[in-house]
Amino acid sequence: MVKAILEQVKKRNPGEPEFHQAVEEVLESIAPVLDKHPEYKKAGIVERLVEPERQILFRVPWVDDSGKVQVNRGMRFEFNSAIGPYKGGLRFHPTVYPGIIKFLGFEQVFKNSLTGLAMGGGKGGSDFDPKGKSDGEVMRFCQSFMTELCKYIGPDTDVPAGDIGVGGREIGFMFGTYKKIRNEFTGVLTGKGLDWGGSLVRTEATGYGLIYFLLQMLKDAGKNVKGATVVSSGSGNVSIYATQKCQQLGAKVIAMSDSNGYIVDNDGIDLKVVKQLKEVERKRIKDYLKARPNARYHEGCDGIWNVKCDIALPNATQNEIDKKAAETLVANGVWAVAEGANMPSTPEAVKIFLKNKVSFGPAKAANAGGVAVSGLEMAQNSQRMSWSFEKTDKLLDEMIMQHIYRQAKASAEEYGQPGNLVVGANIAGFEKVARAMLAQGIV
Ligand code: NDP
Repeated sequence: MVKAILEQVKKRNPGEPEFHQAVEEVLESIAPVLDKHPEYKKAGIVERLVEPERQILFRVPWVDDSGKVQVNRGMRFEFNSAIGPYKGGLRFHPTVYPGIIKFLGFEQVFKNSLTGLAMGGGKGGSDFDPKGKSDGEVMRFCQSFMTELCKYIGPDTDVPAGDIGVGGREIGFMFGTYKKIRNEFTGVLTGKGLDWGGSLVRTEATGYGLIYFLLQMLKDAGKNVKGATVVSSGSGNVSIYATQKCQQLGAKVIAMSDSNGYIVDNDGIDLKVVKQLKEVERKRIKDYLKARPNARYHEGCDGIWNVKCDIALPNATQNEIDKKAAETLVANGVWAVAEGANMPSTPEAVKIFLKNKVSFGPAKAANAGGVAVSGLEMAQNSQRMSWSFEKTDKLLDEMIMQHIYRQAKASAEEYGQPGNLVVGANIAGFEKVARAMLAQGIV
């Protein structure tokens, strides 16, 4: 049955390998659940889950600084609202096309379910590249994008957030436009500034949450991050705050990257320099050497997985660790991999980690901290309240990440695959959504 559904997905969504890959992994994991629950089969739960509830594609025209008209494509895939309003980020990157947004939206359904909060799954974005654009160009693009998107979203309907290429600046421009057109100040986007409805810890949430999840995995494996050597790919939001938490806990992060290349600093990455480069000046990672001349820079981002480390944190993008990279990491003695990015390891790479007993934290579980704190931002917006950093951080660690770990671990054990958190996370995320869909009838 699972095979037939996958064939149908491929036929209906041709030329979208990332979406096929994400669906295949989940379907493989949940096959035993379907055997145990014939009522899910009867209600066509999986057939409905793999088809987004709504697909919105639109034109985004804007004018660049030279006065030339530019046209990008915008999209939002509202995947599943069985357990709450659609929730998931917006990605602005030239590689964006429906296959990428569908894979991300599909994954988001299970991830959001795992958080224990009332959030359905969705994802959106554009093939617009903010890199190298002026603030004025980014603002005009965001205004045009939101002029169309605002027709479909709302605080109880669909609540987008950031992702690659969408940070505080872009969220601000989009929020301003939504507020003006709809004439309402509501929590329609998360990742807002702290002065206008944002939540403390949201900036740090995905990176910190990743490390809280890692700590749980390592506790079970009898290991610790203290004293460990870490490689964290990317140098964006997730990578920076995962690195910060690792450093607070006494680990040594020695390598980071961007899409052009990677740096190795055997004295430990100086995060202040990276933050200044990436968060303030929007420069390239190779400029790190100007402040830290003893570090080395290598052109090409893939080589980062040749750097010997105890813990690998793929925090950049999808499919960045392939079979060869996984083999190299294992040969170099890696003992834990936690995925901050979405689907950063290919299926072959995941198999290699599991076979070699590397503690492996799959993205849907390990990087759910970001969307979870977005959920907490929605709760604060509804209450018209702001919670303290300490309270929110504690909720992220104890109520969210530890809970996700326990659920994934328990489901893996229940279905006879102890320690396999890939299977465990998929099953735990699926079951809650499946029960809700069953209760709500064929809609
Ligand atoms: P950012 O835009 O802040 O940073 C992305 C980083 O990854 C940059 O350093 C970027 O380099 C690098 N990168 C992007 N594309 C590629 C590529 N093709 N090859 C190598 N490096 C690349 O994004 P985030 O940190 O927010 O997101 C990173 C990952 O984490 C994504 O997979 C995202 O979906 C996932 N994620 C993010 C969450 C969040 O809360 N932000 C929540 C959950 C998951 P460059 O500057 O050169 O483009």
